[in-house]
Amino acid sequence: MDHHDIFESLTRNAFDFLERGIGEFDKAPKYSVIHFCAAVEMLLKARLMKEHWSLIVSKSEQANLAKFMGGDFASVTMDEARARLRDIAGEDIADEAFNSFRTLANHRNKMIHFFHADVDRDGLAKAQIVAEHCRSWFHLHRLLNRWDTDFRDFIADISRADRAMKGHRKYLSAKFKALKPELDAVRKAGGKPKACSACGFKAAVPDPLDDEIAPLRCLVCDHTETQVEIDCPHCNQPVVIANEGYATCENCAGAITPEHLVNALTDHESAHIAIANGDDRWEPANCGNCDGYHTVVRRGDIYFCANCFDQSDHVEQCEWCNEPNTGDMEHSYSTGCRHCDGKVGWEKDD
Ligand SMILES: [Zn+2]
Ligand SMILES: [Zn+2]
Ligand SMILES: [Zn+2]
Ligand SMILES: [Zn+2]
Repeated sequence: MDHHDIFESLTRNAFDFLERGIGEFDKAPKYSVIHFCAAVEMLLKARLMKEHWSLIVSKSEQANLAKFMGGDFASVTMDEARARLRDIAGEDIADEAFNSFRTLANHRNKMIHFFHADVDRDGLAKAQIVAEHCRSWFHLHRLLNRWDTDFRDFIADISRADRAMKGHRKYLSAKFKALKPELDAVRKAGGKPKACSACGFKAAVPDPLDDEIAPLRCLVCDHTETQVEIDCPHCNQPVVIANEGYATCENCAGAITPEHLVNALTDHESAHIAIANGDDRWEPANCGNCDGYHTVVRRGDIYFCANCFDQSDHVEQCEWCNEPNTGDMEHSYSTGCRHCDGKVGWEKDD
């Protein structure tokens, strides 16, 4: 066995656990929680292994290949895996995604430490489990798509899991039905519930910012996301994009990027007039949340990042390079922003 084989076998095992986590839900919800959570952890570790095998060993400075191959090591926690993915692989797992995994892990811990005799007959507890699975799969699926070169041998497993998850959602239909009065009230008040990207039910209630941008919260599974509706830059048909600036058009399969969104969401006329009058708050800004370059557009009084969909109520100029940024620009004169090195860096180059 070499490192590649271990990656293969870890990933294969993860999909096996995932399939069980979904498949055994009806008969054994408790084990379904445990297996589903283990699968998420294994896939994060597998991605980490792509950087280096020793990174999944908790004390990686003491990692020993012979012991590792023999399975004699303590592996990283979910939090450590996230930190190492960020610091070493430059792969950030957003808070929303990680929180969905953490909820799953907390639930798993509860299941392991406290005996819950009646979970099989507890409809509420079961709906909660499926809701957690839906939210976690939504985020995990996105990460796997983002890491498609690492997981390219597992495309079939990923789409099989996605199909299984679509079937899994049926356990939420009782909850959806029970919410009918609430959803009717939303409609009566002029709101239009949309299909939730995590559980599929038309129960995601928008709290629109304007005509194109709407944060949503699903009443069935509690998933939150921000949807942006624009005309596809390739085929001109309306497309809905959720949570981040990368998507594939459902109509023409064209790739949509944050640059397309910046262009579609910029109020070109207002920006043109404002800039002509010396009002630079309409110029594209950099994002302090995702470090996106010129990904932030002004929408009325708020600033919206077309890459990470973060919102800010103001921008500040970098005191060194004068680029507008969302986020904290204190000390930027000496240390710069994400896109310049400030005075300190400039003097170093001298
Ligand atoms: Zn939902
Ligand atoms: Zn299109
Ligand atoms: Zn951003
Ligand atoms: Zn700067």
